[in-house]
Amino acid sequence: MDINEYDIETLAVRAGQERSQFGEHAEALYLTSSYVYKSAAQAAARFSGEEPGNIYSRFTNPTVTMMQERLAALEGAEACVATASGMAAILSTVMGLMKAGDHLVSSRSIFGSTQVLFGQIFSKFGIETSYVDGGDLAAWKGAMRPNTKIVFLETPSNPLTEVFDIEAIAKVAHEAGALLVVDNCFCSPALQLPLKLGADLIIHSATKYLDGQGRVLAGAICGPRALIEEPFKFIRSAGPSISPFNAWIVLKGMETLSIRMQAQSANALELAKRLEAHPKVARVFYPGLPSHPQHALAMKQQKSGGAVLAFEVKGGKDAAWRVVDNTKLLSITANLGDTKTTITHPATTTHGRISPEARAASGISDGLLRIAVGLESVDDIEADLLRGMA
Ligand SMILES: *Cc1c(COP(=O)(O)O)cnc(C)c1O
Repeated sequence: MDINEYDIETLAVRAGQERSQFGEHAEALYLTSSYVYKSAAQAAARFSGEEPGNIYSRFTNPTVTMMQERLAALEGAEACVATASGMAAILSTVMGLMKAGDHLVSSRSIFGSTQVLFGQIFSKFGIETSYVDGGDLAAWKGAMRPNTKIVFLETPSNPLTEVFDIEAIAKVAHEAGALLVVDNCFCSPALQLPLKLGADLIIHSATKYLDGQGRVLAGAICGPRALIEEPFKFIRSAGPSISPFNAWIVLKGMETLSIRMQAQSANALELAKRLEAHPKVARVFYPGLPSHPQHALAMKQQKSGGAVLAFEVKGGKDAAWRVVDNTKLLSITANLGDTKTTITHPATTTHGRISPEARAASGISDGLLRIAVGLESVDDIEADLLRGMA
């Protein structure tokens, strides 16, 4: 189908579907590791690349292809390659596009495992990473070196929901001859289209909003075909490929992406407003609130504030833990992107290994709680949170 002809809601349920000879209405799940050929000549033609087609599911699989095409359509990308997880997508991007001696520049507040990958794994192979404050354009410029190949950005940030200017950072990256890679996990293509703002590649943890129901691990890289080529070569040879079953879950999960993101964002905005008015709450961090420092930028670059918010309870760690321990509905887990609302205390979980000084410097106080808002009624979510603040 011509993806330029349709809106994202339509693409989410229609793009990428390839019907088999049986004419099935729903997308088929092809659980097969390999494929058979009609003759020795056909086998030879497939292996030489003369004839397009599947060879082995570490390389390609029809269900995975459907998922990749649907996600590419949503992101407005020419191509997409799926991976076993979001981390595998970041790994494959760097393995495909960088080499020893190259330099990476990244915003400071990125996903914990991404920091480990950059700081402890890539460094062993001669790829050095510099960190900058995502909102400081001069710092981005100052960090660029002649060997900078990739500029890496996550926006909004976790857990403080800081919003960074994709368009401006893309300009800085391009002036330095580097590629801008955006982790679009928090917004998903339903709310933010980084390629349209100048990014070169998009990373997804499809584990989060693309699946949307917390069932599988999955990842993807989206962008121009010429840039996807090298990560794809790495994936087909090194093997961080997605399972067809997980790809099928994400393929079907994406059908409800827009409607979920709209509903979960609306819930988050309403909850953020109510928390902001509560006397025991010192501060709410949510890009959809006018009080958010980058509210104007968020409204320009995103369709809504998203489904993740953070708030600071007065009274520090004890008060925050009291809120967590008095919930009976919310799931106490660091995961996000689920229809079920989750609550986490960053200072003692996701950001617990950081020194208290560094944590304070990055604004993650002991009273801070992060909520990834789901589809329950906002009244029920609010009541569950207020119990521990009574
Ligand atoms: C979860 C997450 C990842 C990693 O994805 P996995 O699927 O868990 O490997 C990367 N970036 C962000 C922003 C995430 O939230």
